[in-house]
Amino acid sequence: MTMLVDDASRAWFDRAQRVTPGGVNSPVRAFRAVGGTPRFFTSGRGAIVTDADGNDYVDLVCSWGPMILGHAHPEVRDAVEAAVARGFSFGAPSITEVQLAEEIVARVPEVAAVRLVSSGTEATMSAVRLARGVTGRPAIVKFAGCYHGHSDALLAAAGSGAATFGIPGSAGVTAGAAADTIVLPYNHRGAVTAAFERFGDQIAAVITEAAAANMGVVPPEAGFNEFLARTAHAHGSLLISDEVMTGFRVSRGGWQGMAGPVGDEAPDLFTYGKVIGGGLPVAAFGGSEQVMSQLAPLGSVYQAGTLSGNPVATACGLATLRNCTEDVYTHLNRAAHTIGQLAGEALDSAGVPHQVRTAGNLFSVFFTDQPVTDFESAQQQDTAAYARFFHAMLDGGVSLPPSAYEAWFVSAAHDDDTIERIAAALPAAARAAAEVPA
Ligand SMILES: *Cc1c(COP(=O)(O)O)cnc(C)c1O
Repeated sequence: MTMLVDDASRAWFDRAQRVTPGGVNSPVRAFRAVGGTPRFFTSGRGAIVTDADGNDYVDLVCSWGPMILGHAHPEVRDAVEAAVARGFSFGAPSITEVQLAEEIVARVPEVAAVRLVSSGTEATMSAVRLARGVTGRPAIVKFAGCYHGHSDALLAAAGSGAATFGIPGSAGVTAGAAADTIVLPYNHRGAVTAAFERFGDQIAAVITEAAAANMGVVPPEAGFNEFLARTAHAHGSLLISDEVMTGFRVSRGGWQGMAGPVGDEAPDLFTYGKVIGGGLPVAAFGGSEQVMSQLAPLGSVYQAGTLSGNPVATACGLATLRNCTEDVYTHLNRAAHTIGQLAGEALDSAGVPHQVRTAGNLFSVFFTDQPVTDFESAQQQDTAAYARFFHAMLDGGVSLPPSAYEAWFVSAAHDDDTIERIAAALPAAARAAAEVPA
């Protein structure tokens, strides 16, 4: 196989490593999970990204979701350029932040009000604080393998034994910060019931990804989210549905609009990010008027941000959402389905054990033929086979997520031509995955 020239990326990576830990501003970008040199991108247009050596790739990362319309979409660019011309930030109320909030509220009946922030981490951290403020309780339940950003309380790992309080999931997280987090296995109702039986009167909220997609894509089993809401509500706790990944990617109303339960089985708080900024830093959390009115300045739960609701970022998010028509969602569903199917067929032909798991138009390929329903089973996959597959795809001009534990993302710009390029790269990558390393 011909290896692409990566001299410029290597040179930039050397420079980056001198001034930035690991050469990156977010760890997965460093390629540690797959080895090799990360590509430094210089431009993107539609479904294609170009690196510092001038190589083109079909992009199946899409900035981890935000580039739902493709890179440098003309109407989004126009909106951002117009916003830039009006000034970058006022630290005072402005127009587009109201319009973006209206756009979000119009999409989700359970969300009467939103507060805009600048990252998914801030959204989930603030939603947890709000849930604690509303209930007056300290503990939260999260699931192993679900990612909710990197605030201390949400970087907890499971303690030993069922239904115990968490231990720090990172150096620098205190035992105290992790001790209020109960970490349970995803999709395990019995563990949730047991945790609520023991600690129900201390639990402020359960936080879950609407569909888990940060351990690879692991959809909730039928009725699981409804069960979480019922269990939480029976104990006076809230359910936080983290839609930072699914929000307005899987449908016009996010996961809630596609598969979300209603009434007493609906979540109480929702978090958004990624798509709602269209590639600029915007995230949000929202819920009923009653819950959201507990936030400052109306209520006693403090939360703030110098750049929250930034006019350029919200103009980008607003233009992105307005261009996400029903046709776009139909296209995303079809493209995701086709690419998942092509990958599955290529791996079948090469005899590589695998399974494609999907949640709406989110999907990922697990290199195992064992069922994957939670983090423990996700970890049975052959990550070395994924690394070989990843690099062969990269050499074939397709940029996949540099980790086996990530979703693959498509955009409205992934057209038939793009899909043909993916199809052309797959057979060699599947053979590379099948190779038993010497
Ligand atoms: C990406 C992600 C976050 C964190 O968002 P950042 O903007 O990276 O801080 C939180 N929750 C989920 C489900 C995510 O996918």
